[in-house]
Amino acid sequence: MNDILPEQSPVWQYLETTVKDVLAAYGYSEIRMPVVEQTNLFKRSIGEVTDIVEKEMYTFEDRNGESLTLRPEGTASCVRAAEEHGLLFNQMQRFWYQGPMFRYERPQKGRYRQFHQIGVETFGMASSDIDAEVILLSARLWKRLGLLDSVTLQLNSLGSNEARAEYKAALVEYLEQRKDQLDEDSQRRLGSNPLRILDSKEQGTQSLLDGAPVLTDYLDEESAQHFAELRAMLDEAGVKYEINPRLVRGLDYYCKTVFEWVTDKLGAQGTVCAGGRYDGLVKQLGGRPTPAVGFAMGVERLILLLETLDLIPEQLKQPFDLYVAAEHKGIQSKVVLISDQLRDRFPGLRVRIHCGGLKNISQKAQQTGAPIVLLLKETDNQSLCGTVWHKNEPEFDLTGEQIEAAIAKIWQS
Ligand code: ATP
Ligand code: MG
Repeated sequence: MNDILPEQSPVWQYLETTVKDVLAAYGYSEIRMPVVEQTNLFKRSIGEVTDIVEKEMYTFEDRNGESLTLRPEGTASCVRAAEEHGLLFNQMQRFWYQGPMFRYERPQKGRYRQFHQIGVETFGMASSDIDAEVILLSARLWKRLGLLDSVTLQLNSLGSNEARAEYKAALVEYLEQRKDQLDEDSQRRLGSNPLRILDSKEQGTQSLLDGAPVLTDYLDEESAQHFAELRAMLDEAGVKYEINPRLVRGLDYYCKTVFEWVTDKLGAQGTVCAGGRYDGLVKQLGGRPTPAVGFAMGVERLILLLETLDLIPEQLKQPFDLYVAAEHKGIQSKVVLISDQLRDRFPGLRVRIHCGGLKNISQKAQQTGAPIVLLLKETDNQSLCGTVWHKNEPEFDLTGEQIEAAIAKIWQS
C-alpha cells in the first residue's frame, strides 16, 4: 500500500481531471460507494473459485461478528448501491466511480495491495451500441493522454451462459486427456474454473491450448450477432482491435463482450483497463434482470505508463507560477498582501510566498525553480518597488503597476 507523495499527486490529478473531462463528454454521473461491504456480496458476484475470492480479499469480522471485506473491485458495490437505491429497474444508467481497491497479492511493479481504479458501469441497455460507447470512451481517453499508440484493444465474446457451459465441457474434455502436461495452477483450475486456464501465463499450457476447442466456435447466434455489430461499429469509428479468443477475464460475472486494453511497455502487468458485459449480475444479486456493461482501469498502471513514455506535461512538475519574497525585514506583511492582490488580479495564477527567514533571499527565491520570481523592497521614500525575474532576466525597480504589467506580460504569453 503506497503513499502518494506531494511530488506525485499532480500526475494523479492530471489523470483524474482528464478522465473526468472525458466522462463528462459522454454524460456519465459519479457514484461514490463505501470501501467496505459485506463479504458475501463479493463471494456472490465475483465467484467463489476466482483468484480474488479464494486468496486476495481483506476480510475481517467487525464488533458484531459480521464478516466484512475491503472492496477488491467496484462493480459489485456499484450494483449493490444502485439496486439498494432503486436506480436500476426500468432505467438506463451511466455511472462512474473512482477510489482505492484492496487485494492481498504479491506486490510488484504495477501490482499493489491497495491500488486505485476508475471505472464505469452502465445499466439497462442490452444492445451492442453501449458496448461500443464504453470502448470509444476509453479510446478517447487514451487519445487525450497521448497513449493511443501504446495500447492495444483485445476483444472477445464469451457468449451466453449456455454457450459458455457447452464450450467449458469441450475444453475440459480436451484438457483432461492432457492433464499431465498442464501447469499446477491449471490442473487445479480444471476442476474449479477451467476457463481461467485460457489466460494462463505458462508457455507449456499456452502451447497445449493451440489445439484446444475455440470459444468463438461455440457462440450462440444472439451473442455472435451482438459481437458482429460491435465490431462493425468499432470498425466504422476507426478503433483498432485484436480478437483474442482466449480472453476470458478473471471474474465470473461476464457474458458476451469482454475486452482489455493492454500495453507491452510495462512488462508482465500490461493490462491497463478491462471490462465487459455482465447481464446476469444484477439478478444474481437479487435484482430484476438488468443488462449491464462496464470497465475499470488501473490508475497506478496508467501513471506508470505515462511516466515510462514521458507523457507528463512539463508544467505539472512545478506547483506554482510565481514566487514572492521580501528583500529585507519589515515588509513581510506587504508580501502577504500584494500576493493576495495578485491572486485577485490574475485568477489561476499560482502564487507561493516566502515565509520565515530572510537570508540569501534573492538566491533562494530563484532556486525554487519558479518560472517567475518577485522580490519586493522598500525604497528610501518608503514606497514599495520590486524586481521581477523571468528566465534569469530581471527587471529592476518596478513600481506596483509596472510589477502587474510585467507579470501580465509573462503570464499571458
Ligand atoms: P490482472 O490480470 O493484472 O491481475 P485483473 O484481471 O485482476 O488484472 P481487474 O480485476 O479486471 O484486474 O481490474 C481492472 C484493472 O485494475 C486491471 O486491468 C489493472 O489495470 C488494475 N489492477 C488490478 N489489480 C491490480 C493491483 N493489484 N495493483 C494495481 N492495479 C491493479
Ligand atoms: Mg488479478
